[in-house]
Amino acid sequence: MKPAVFDYFTARTVYEAVDALSNAKDAKVLAGGQSLLLEMHLKRLSPDVVVDINQIPELGGMEVQDGVLRVGPLVRHRVFENPRAVPGPLGELFARAVVNIAHPPVRNRGTMAGSFGWAHPASEWCALAVALDTDIELTGPGGIRQVGACDFFTGSFRTVRQPHEVITSLRWPLLSGDTGVGFIEHRRTHFCFAQVAVGATLDISDGMIEGARIGLVNCADRPVRARAAEEVLAGVEAGEVPAGYKLPKGHPFARAGRIAADQDASPIAEPYADIEYRRHAIATVVARTLCQAAADQRSRTDAEKGNWSITDG
Ligand SMILES: Cc1cc2nc3c(=O)[nH]c(=O)nc-3n(C[C@H](O)[C@H](O)[C@H](O)COP(=O)(O)OP(=O)(O)OC[C@H]3O[C@@H](n4cnc5c(N)ncnc54)[C@H](O)[C@@H]3O)c2cc1C
Repeated sequence: MKPAVFDYFTARTVYEAVDALSNAKDAKVLAGGQSLLLEMHLKRLSPDVVVDINQIPELGGMEVQDGVLRVGPLVRHRVFENPRAVPGPLGELFARAVVNIAHPPVRNRGTMAGSFGWAHPASEWCALAVALDTDIELTGPGGIRQVGACDFFTGSFRTVRQPHEVITSLRWPLLSGDTGVGFIEHRRTHFCFAQVAVGATLDISDGMIEGARIGLVNCADRPVRARAAEEVLAGVEAGEVPAGYKLPKGHPFARAGRIAADQDASPIAEPYADIEYRRHAIATVVARTLCQAAADQRSRTDAEKGNWSITDG
């Protein structure tokens, strides 16, 4: 199908982009185009103006300042496939998550910020952002404002971004050097979006869990931070990570998985997954992701001591 007729505008500055968005009845920002153009072809979206931001030099690139990674809205998904693109465990977490996004041609063009503009409940980046307290910077006619990820998403494909605002950066707090990270995705086929995916970080000291962060992908109408599950893990002994992640009954990770599924998630029935199945999948994927994060944390501390081990059981 062909999209409806629209005007195309190439912005050269953020100011020009904001101006063009403010002066149109229904304008859309064009970043990588991997979601927008598809929706236009399917005629689910018919903007009168498309504002291309790809020629705005200051919107590219990444930098770290005061322990915060700033990602410009033109940074493509594929950049994060290299775990060293971003310092420390955050780079490892991004690398584990990004390979689940579509396939290489989509990752070559699609942008991390575009995922926030699109706000699909199955977006890997958006769930990591709510777990890690990422800030989204929005620039509009009135200036710049920052919104925390937990306040940014208001529903399926809905955010607090106003139509004339451009996402001008994403600010991710870096993780400390010995934080363990995990990301596991479950989907029906390789080409499907996640049925359930989970990103998690664990801080463990002397065998005790000091803190956990858990983000749930496609477990509600928006990305979810599994706070109830995080709470049951705080101050608890992590225990051994069993081979194959087969957890004994009562293991704290299994308990956290159950709580995430029953208390944090609000899964929606889908043609291939009813609510009962989805809750079971959430509990399992949360528990396994925590195992992966614990194994990652163990291998980091071992490496510091000059030892080496395989991270995945
Ligand atoms: C086959 C296929 C499979 C996919 N699988 C996945 C998947 O598994 N997981 C996943 O997360 N995504 C998936 N995607 C979507 C992909 O990740 C897109 O790249 C992403 O959703 C949007 O990024 P984009 O840069 O292409 O944005 P665009 O398509 O250009 O824009 C998407 C929306 O965000 C808005 N927008 C973009 N940038 C900004 C900005 N800076 N400021 C304000 N608004 C902005 C646009 O106006 C538009 O409404 C898939 C896409 C395809 C085609």
